[in-house]
Amino acid sequence: MFLGHFAVALAAKKAAPKSSLGTMVAACQALDLLWPILVLAGIESFRIDPGNTALTPLAFDSYPWSHSLLGTLVLGVVFGWFVAWWGGGLRSGVVAGSVVASHWLLDYVTHRPDLQWAPWLEQRVGLGLWNAPAAAIAVEGGLYLLGAGLYVATTRARDRIGSVGLWAFLALLAVLYAVNLSSPPPPNTQAVAVVALAIWIFVAWAAWVDRHRERSRLRRD
Ligand SMILES: [Zn+2]
Repeated sequence: MFLGHFAVALAAKKAAPKSSLGTMVAACQALDLLWPILVLAGIESFRIDPGNTALTPLAFDSYPWSHSLLGTLVLGVVFGWFVAWWGGGLRSGVVAGSVVASHWLLDYVTHRPDLQWAPWLEQRVGLGLWNAPAAAIAVEGGLYLLGAGLYVATTRARDRIGSVGLWAFLALLAVLYAVNLSSPPPPNTQAVAVVALAIWIFVAWAAWVDRHRERSRLRRD
């Protein structure tokens, strides 16, 4: 899942208005921010296997640290604690930690059984929504529209960076998702991992845009 993770970050702004969208994007993609680094370091691995599921040619053979439930929960607690300690307060910390955990839940729905409960447990789980492309795209697109709608309703632009920057951010993510769906399998795993590192750019972009937006007057409580 890709857009669905961002949807959770966008929606989280309503639950934790004090936190930056950048923090929430880092939270929603914390697992996928770590994953390419672990892959490039040779600690986790995957294969290119066209048809692995209908929607992705990637076979996630081994990602026990970044994508096991236990790994996710540990990361969520650490991330949430850090957000709270860094001035976000308890509420933002709890929301950020939950957003980290939501990544595993959404991956559980979409991936074929390749997710482990814990690094040392061999059992793999996943509901495999990726094998029903129309349903997967509808769920992901629907979540994304909902999340983006919530963020736009909760905040308003203070200047052009806050408006144009946000729309460009939202549109580029949607385009990347569509391109990824319609392009041929990637040449090698190395290239996939390097491209995946681009998610870091979206964290910075979200933080930048968020600084140019404020809470909308209607929503002040
Ligand atoms: Zn993931």
